[in-house]
Amino acid sequence: MIAEKMLSFMERASWIRKMFEEGARLKSIHGAENVCDFSLGNPDLSPPREFDEALLEEAQRTGPGVHGYMQNAGFQEVRERVADQVEKDHGLRPNPAHIIMTCGAAGGLNCIFKAILNPGDEVIVPSPFFVEYGFYVDNHGGSLVPVASNDDFSLDIDGISKAINDKTKAILINSPNNPTGVLYDENSLLRLGELLQEKRKETGKTIFLISDEPYRRLVFDDEKVPGLFGIYDATIVTTSFSKDLSIPGERIGYCAINPKFEEAELLSGAMTLANRILGFVNAPALMQRVVSKVLGQSVDVSVYQRRRDLFKEILMEAGLEFVLPKGTFYFFPKTPIKDDKKFASILQEELILTVPGSGFGCPGHIRIAFCVDESVIERSREGFKKAVEKAKN
Ligand code: PLP
Repeated sequence: MIAEKMLSFMERASWIRKMFEEGARLKSIHGAENVCDFSLGNPDLSPPREFDEALLEEAQRTGPGVHGYMQNAGFQEVRERVADQVEKDHGLRPNPAHIIMTCGAAGGLNCIFKAILNPGDEVIVPSPFFVEYGFYVDNHGGSLVPVASNDDFSLDIDGISKAINDKTKAILINSPNNPTGVLYDENSLLRLGELLQEKRKETGKTIFLISDEPYRRLVFDDEKVPGLFGIYDATIVTTSFSKDLSIPGERIGYCAINPKFEEAELLSGAMTLANRILGFVNAPALMQRVVSKVLGQSVDVSVYQRRRDLFKEILMEAGLEFVLPKGTFYFFPKTPIKDDKKFASILQEELILTVPGSGFGCPGHIRIAFCVDESVIERSREGFKKAVEKAKN
């Protein structure tokens, strides 16, 4: 009854379900308040007040057409405003006609891959990486090619260079990064841009740079996320409001094409058609209008920063090694034993839920999501220490 590929995907994705079930089991036995659940990247902060106000205001609009279909790429006035914001983030203003409003970053990535991939095309991704990427690329007949990052999770430009071949269609980057919290600096991005430009000269083929950046506004210590449009012309950005406004359930985001890319018109046409025929049709009308009034805003990032600092202390005390996250709400420490799944299950015995790094293509680590109250993080202190002791003995 079910497609063979889906059966194997369900198997591959089942560890997420198993973890979820184990978490639910532990919570039913010990009480939810006694389990420290760091497994989900579901933002817990309330959306900013400005978002609530814009939502209430937009909800007052009534009459014919308010909730109707529009151009598949979204409302014109919304895309004009988004283009202004993209200029602030990426240094150049895209043509609003080359902005496509999407159902989140997930919807955006699927539109991009549908538009550019031929069967057998490869998409290179630095690992560790967001697990859904493999499924999204496969949806459109491509295959994902992970390239290990450096030990500090910075880009391994030589590794990427070696992985490029005549099937390579795109490099997909995500900064700040899920699961590592790492931010790619301008220098490494410039080197990546140069590499892609050299490869184009050598082969006459364009390799796209795709930047998936739903965490752009969740950065700490006044760090800046570099803009990309000045770095390489064949760049497509996709993002969402899921994390910075804490509204992942509303499914709203966008794609923007670099105005320097000569074939932007053709590409945006293909992505817009993809939005329609993938069944999204268009991004939700009400949400398009609401987010266009709060562009560039975010939840109070200092709350995440305080949690990051608290976790830093707890993990150091437990003797775990990690790269300090500069953004997002994730830590990705090394496990004290090689077997990350085993270490995650030892943590479960201490009622601490995390995700093994294997799920992100990077065994020997665990991902900790700190979208939970500081009191829960504080409560995990002794558990982390005990788990490390147990794992070593
Ligand atoms: N990309 C990354 C790196 C993510 O972490 C997520 C969600 O967790 C997404 C894309 C999907 O975002 P959205 O829910 O906005 O589609």
